[in-house]
Amino acid sequence: MKRLGVLGWPVSHSRSPQMHNAALAQLGLKDWHYQRLPVPPEVFEETVRGLPAAGFVGANVTIPHKEAALALADEATDAARAIGAANTLSFGVDGAISAANTDAPGILTALAAIDRAPAGQTALVLGAGGSARAVAYALREAGAARVAVWNRSSDRAVALASDLGVDAVTRPITADLLVNCTSVGLADGNFKDLPIDADALGTYATVADLVYRAGGTELIATASSAGCAVVGGLEVLVRQGALSFQAWTGLQAPIDVMRDSARGAFPDSHDPGTSDSPDRRAADPRRPGR
Ligand code: NDP
Repeated sequence: MKRLGVLGWPVSHSRSPQMHNAALAQLGLKDWHYQRLPVPPEVFEETVRGLPAAGFVGANVTIPHKEAALALADEATDAARAIGAANTLSFGVDGAISAANTDAPGILTALAAIDRAPAGQTALVLGAGGSARAVAYALREAGAARVAVWNRSSDRAVALASDLGVDAVTRPITADLLVNCTSVGLADGNFKDLPIDADALGTYATVADLVYRAGGTELIATASSAGCAVVGGLEVLVRQGALSFQAWTGLQAPIDVMRDSARGAFPDSHDPGTSDSPDRRAADPRRPGR
């Protein structure tokens, strides 16, 4: 048995097991299995070091372990080091631990899928936590013309900007792309704690929200109604998961199966995944409103 899992504390909310097990089944990898690994911080390192001997090939890492995962790795990608966090661990046959960050390329592949690659675009990132670091790094590396970061606690935005060579701003700027990397919306779906109102949202050509929840987020619903192209948090989850899957198995991840499975975990979800503008969607019968 080849084992995979997601390390977190708590981790009961994670949709990754359904998503990865559906992908493994789709590709006929019957001797692989993906499971939740609830691990408190005080035993994180010893638990991870024991995983290779227990048959684990790799693991995803979620809150609050992403920094610790990078710190214990024997080797790490340049991106994970620059971001300061890892969400994907791979174990060598000798037990060596490699760390990577697929949150960063995950947002880029989600944007590319709707022809909204950020090269030459201006971007406003909301938040200065782990996911904001990954997104700001990804946008900068992808050639965005400007990456501005706003955060409720402005000192954290300043620190992020200094670390990653982007701009910190104290109030929202207009830009081509808006990415919400705060946890605003996670609890109740609304975005009243963000410094952008519904009218201003329509000025961004593309709006992405990393938050995913049953019923979707009001940020994405409002942006979509305003004519913005949108990327929902579920789609980012699927894209980062697909990249982890490929790193472990060496196989192309079945994206559609992973997306269906992640959506199935939220039967009442209105998260659109991604969509380009309603006009283009209406013109393309392969892109029904979701
Ligand atoms: P962190 O805890 O590292 O950062 C949280 C951020 O949210 C901080 O910038 C914090 O600001 C801000 N914030 C929290 N509450 C408020 C509020 N009421 N008003 C304004 N800002 C607020 O979290 P992560 O960066 O790891 O994750 C952020 C969100 O993204 C989570 O909901 C997470 O689930 C989601 N996520 C989704 C992924 C996906 O694949 N779709 C991948 C990774 C994350 P401050 O510094 O002032 O406290």
